[in-house]
Amino acid sequence: MKVAIDGPAGAGKSTIARRVAAALGYVYVDTGAMYRALTAEVLRRNMDPADATAVSELARSLNIQLDREAGGGTQRVWAADRDVTEEIREPVVNQNVSMVASHQGVRSAVVAQQKGMAAQGNVVMDGRDIGTTVMPNADVKVFLKASVTERARRRSLDLVRRGYSVNLAQLAEEIRERDMFDSTRRVSPLRRASDAVEIDTTHLTVEEVVDMVLLLCRNREAGE
Ligand code: C5P
Repeated sequence: MKVAIDGPAGAGKSTIARRVAAALGYVYVDTGAMYRALTAEVLRRNMDPADATAVSELARSLNIQLDREAGGGTQRVWAADRDVTEEIREPVVNQNVSMVASHQGVRSAVVAQQKGMAAQGNVVMDGRDIGTTVMPNADVKVFLKASVTERARRRSLDLVRRGYSVNLAQLAEEIRERDMFDSTRRVSPLRRASDAVEIDTTHLTVEEVVDMVLLLCRNREAGE
């Protein structure tokens, strides 16, 4: 069974995907973490994130690994032999990841790896283009959305928990910009697959959304 969860920044994808995977005993793949790991390495090497040729070359040679825990614990992320789990959540990575992820060469390299992961068995994968490009034949496709204000609020809670001070208005602006960039890029833009079920999570709890997705999975298993 393949479960694809897409949506814009801060819609709750990774929280929901992780819990659904844990409930079903499936592998969880956070595809955004892979673009983030590449971005962290681009920044560490002082490369220009807009340099499509150099960044694509790095994407083809860099070994990005997610350690694939089936349970709910933190998923460790590796770029070559460096553990970048914390580093990839830093604001500077947020600000540069969309540019890095927009290059055709980057997407070919990363999507090929993701398709390989999808082929290995039961999986819940979250991202922007999972239902459209990475797993177009997924059994269950969900597109999560939420208001910009709510998404900025969730991101700010996350950042504050990790010791950053935040400006809510600025965060909302960054989210808007990232959505715009991700939705309008030429290659594999953020888009709801025509057969995805859309869930607006603005006024829903995590448990409510998880239950809705699990119900979709059960219905699918039952052949409905
Ligand atoms: O999901 P997350 O916010 O970690 O994703 C970070 C960025 O990675 C997104 O803003 C987007 O630019 C890129 N991304 C992508 N395709 C995916 C997952 C993430 O382009 N499947």
